[in-house]
Amino acid sequence: MNIALIAHDKKKEDMINLVTEYKSVLKKHNLFATKTTGTLIKERVGLDVKVYLSGPFGGDQQIGAQIAEGNIDIVIFLRDPLTAQPHEPDVSALLRICDVHNKPLATNLNSATVLLNTLKNL
Ligand code: PGA
Repeated sequence: MNIALIAHDKKKEDMINLVTEYKSVLKKHNLFATKTTGTLIKERVGLDVKVYLSGPFGGDQQIGAQIAEGNIDIVIFLRDPLTAQPHEPDVSALLRICDVHNKPLATNLNSATVLLNTLKNL
């Protein structure tokens, strides 16, 4: 499966912890991420990740395009709903394109855990 991983700044630590916990599952799949999120996952967890631009510089849109093309199967996007994001239109567009293409999307830690447990048991 092709899995996209994105985390807003205040959720990056949560993403690292999540990816660390599910490392043995995630290493069997192809991982994609926005720049800062992906770089942290590579450096701190040691997983291979294809990295796009940083979210505020268009990374959300690049991943959205991959979803539209049918190249992404699952999206884990740990959003911070309490902080204004400079690229909010891109964030909304990414969520929208997941719904347009009926892609499994988790936007918080608990839903991400449910998705990853499902993936683990496939
Ligand atoms: P980042 O982008 O991983 O480059 O921080 C994520 C985002 O803000 O959407």
